[in-house]
Amino acid sequence: MKATVLFSGGLDSTTCLAIAVKKYGAENVTALSIYYGQKHDKEIRAAKEIAAFYGVKQRFLDLTAIFAGSDCSLLRGNDAEIPKESYADQLSQTDGKPVSTYVPFRNGLFLASAASAAISDGSSVIYYGAHSDDAAGNAYPDCSEEFNNAMSKAIFTGSGEQLRVEAPFVGLTKADVVRIGTELKAPYKMTWSCYEGGEKPCGKCGTCRDRAAAFAANGIPDPLISEGV
Ligand SMILES: [Zn+2]
Repeated sequence: MKATVLFSGGLDSTTCLAIAVKKYGAENVTALSIYYGQKHDKEIRAAKEIAAFYGVKQRFLDLTAIFAGSDCSLLRGNDAEIPKESYADQLSQTDGKPVSTYVPFRNGLFLASAASAAISDGSSVIYYGAHSDDAAGNAYPDCSEEFNNAMSKAIFTGSGEQLRVEAPFVGLTKADVVRIGTELKAPYKMTWSCYEGGEKPCGKCGTCRDRAAAFAANGIPDPLISEGV
């Protein structure tokens, strides 16, 4: 059996990759890394290094064009600043809408793209790293359990029941993800989560804050910080 992992080079998808490699063997895993017009390429560089670390095949896809006109603050061509507040603080100002770093229907687009790639590659399962902290408060609605169930069903049905979706963290927190990945010795030192493309993580954007809290909840240092970048 073969598996395709939606793989950004961040902490969550690296943990997914660790799970898939353990279950299916590196030779049966493909990491699918999608460029979508981010303001920096740190994640993609991390993704290349981590895929090489695990010895898995890697495919790249560029879906930048589809986000033309988006006001998402993560995207190139948009001057909007990436917020430096916690997600909770951001959500108190969005009037029930997703945060400004929500990339329009990203996980829907990525899962549909991964489904086409996975069937072509002979994979029977797609992994992706959505977790409940990102779905909380509707920050990223395409990380929710409800969304995952609907997409999973659509992909299973639309593939002629040959492809299923695994979202191992959809009911878990980011702290749970760190616990699981640490047990699997996932190379977190090589991952990149920060929305900014600086030399070191900014420590202030929503994802930096969540990452720090997840390591703190486990009582362990983040190797990306403690061992230097
Ligand atoms: Zn940051």
